[in-house]
Amino acid sequence: MEILIATQNSHKVEELQAILREHKLLTPRDAGMDFSFEEKGTSFLENSLGKAMELFRQAGRPVLADDSGLVIPALNGEPGIYSARYGSGDLEKNLEAPERNRYLLGKMEGMTNREAFFVCSMTLVLSSERFFIVQETLNGEIAEQPSGTHGFGYDPLFFLPEYGKTVAEIPEKEKNRISHRGRAGLRMKALLKSLEETI
Ligand code: IMP
Repeated sequence: MEILIATQNSHKVEELQAILREHKLLTPRDAGMDFSFEEKGTSFLENSLGKAMELFRQAGRPVLADDSGLVIPALNGEPGIYSARYGSGDLEKNLEAPERNRYLLGKMEGMTNREAFFVCSMTLVLSSERFFIVQETLNGEIAEQPSGTHGFGYDPLFFLPEYGKTVAEIPEKEKNRISHRGRAGLRMKALLKSLEETI
């Protein structure tokens, strides 16, 4: 199925395309659209559903949206739904990932509880009354310093105790097998298959 994906984040598109191999994912730009969406929701779920519905309203064809981020209980849930713009304050442009990671490490200085989890809320919209939502997580800890070059965003800081490595140090294929987005994507893949069989 050809699916419009409600993001311009090339990392997200690459990860999802690797999972949903049998489908063709197109960004709004690929489809000649100029799409932007102001996230006003109070949860990943609201933002994912809102983004998917708005793109569907504009495009009138199947849409998939991913709203994701990092949650740190010791920081009262920060950066949470503000993960993409964390540390940017009133700056017009968001910080680049390495600066944002430095900002986060500063916030966590001296903290011993370094538990964290990623969330991915994924919405598939087939019509305005027909949509499917999956939300998945990945648990880990915030490292004391960044390491690794794979992935994107907070991956160099996100330590997986069972691997003894950060997400940025494991192969991308492995990230896709275990991550919040990978798990949500695999469930969407199964859902799409069952929908195609029964449509
Ligand atoms: P969104 O575009 O509002 O969903 O922003 C998601 C933000 O959360 C990204 O810009 C990253 O900073 C962060 N994020 C989400 N998923 C991941 C991931 O898999 N690895 C690292 N950072 C992530």
